Amino acid sequence: MLIAGGGPAGLAAAIALRQRGADVLVADALRPPIDKPCGEGLMPASRRELARLGIAPGVHDGVEFRGILFVEDGTQVAADFPCGLGLGVRRTVLHRLLADRAAELGVRLLWNTPVALAPGRPAILAGEPCAYRWLIGADGHASRVRSWAGLDAGSDRFRRFGFRAHFDVAPWSEFVEIHWTGHGQIYITPVGPREVCVAALTADPNLRLAHLLAGCPTLRDRLAAAAATDTERGALTLTRSLRRVTSGNVALLGDASGSADSITGEGLAVGFRQALLLADSLAAGTLDLYASRHAAILALPQRMASLMLLLDRFPRLRARVLPVLAARPHLFRELLAVHVGEQPLPRFVLRHGAELGAMLLAPGLA
Ligand SMILES: Cc1cc2nc3c(=O)[nH]c(=O)nc-3n(C[C@H](O)[C@H](O)[C@H](O)COP(=O)(O)OP(=O)(O)OC[C@H]3O[C@@H](n4cnc5c(N)ncnc54)[C@H](O)[C@@H]3O)c2cc1C
Repeated sequence: MLIAGGGPAGLAAAIALRQRGADVLVADALRPPIDKPCGEGLMPASRRELARLGIAPGVHDGVEFRGILFVEDGTQVAADFPCGLGLGVRRTVLHRLLADRAAELGVRLLWNTPVALAPGRPAILAGEPCAYRWLIGADGHASRVRSWAGLDAGSDRFRRFGFRAHFDVAPWSEFVEIHWTGHGQIYITPVGPREVCVAALTADPNLRLAHLLAGCPTLRDRLAAAAATDTERGALTLTRSLRRVTSGNVALLGDASGSADSITGEGLAVGFRQALLLADSLAAGTLDLYASRHAAILALPQRMASLMLLLDRFPRLRARVLPVLAARPHLFRELLAVHVGEQPLPRFVLRHGAELGAMLLAPGLA
């Protein structure tokens, strides 16, 4: 198996495939530790998928958080995860854990080695055509493998811009905080005893982290005295669905195969789940299982992204919804359970749709 891209999804697939006895080579254009703009929050489910790969990041690797907090203009609501704790972990630390586990299992890792792909030509690795039984494109949202294999057809529903920086300050909350502003969201993930990750997401290409912070005085003041521990990095975040994610002996994985807006915090979990599914599929000698179940993995995060981006685009709706959730925290708790896959969305709508609707339409909110 040749895996183009040794990010979280590619390494997770390499581990899962190797656990099933495959001969795996991973090639990445970069050299570890590979960093990338990310909110750096592993949801409880991501930790469970990692455990299946033999990786158990804990408090020595990052900082645990118990749930999610939404806040805007003094209104806030928080909820614990229904099951387990999340973990804030620096992207470089996560990459090291995955790469070490892959190496321990005997995956061959080629760093600083781009997979070169030209239309109608075989894949080139370190200047030589490369033979493989299966090629897995885990090369991120601008995937070259995807174009080369003719798998670009699909739709981009939302396209936003993400920024990330780290600050030298002791985490002040047991939650990942999502601050809603007029121009996007800023979320704070604790990643070390004296470090937080600050990620910002906006639809406006002219804005950067500082602009969003300016619209969020509480956070700006809290971070004003803290030194940034690295330089700000930016990346696109997309909600993208592809018509197909396999063709012949090629499969796409992780962001290369579609994605949900980063506000969901589910990108890593999605990649890990796909990696496990791909390994099961290839263990049976075909990509059929992967092709048929891939879309189901992305469906919930994409649905939740659509809901959250409604709040992003319609400030007046948000101004109604946040106070309603703050007044009825059980609704937020159940929504979080839906978000992390512990409760089906239709059940939430059946149980609470009428209550939520009535409160949103009522003149007084409490
Ligand atoms: C601002 C922001 C915040 C986010 N916050 C979160 C969060 O809190 N929680 C969460 O779960 N997810 C989050 N995400 C999403 C998450 O970062 C991605 O879903 C995840 O990185 C996808 O992993 P991947 O392995 O598919 O792709 P990538 O991480 O992009 O890795 C792709 C790899 O392929 C390599 N590559 C590319 N081209 C080639 C080539 N031709 N040959 C060889 N190698 C190649 C690259 O060097 C790279 O290492 C966030 C994303 C953004 C932008």
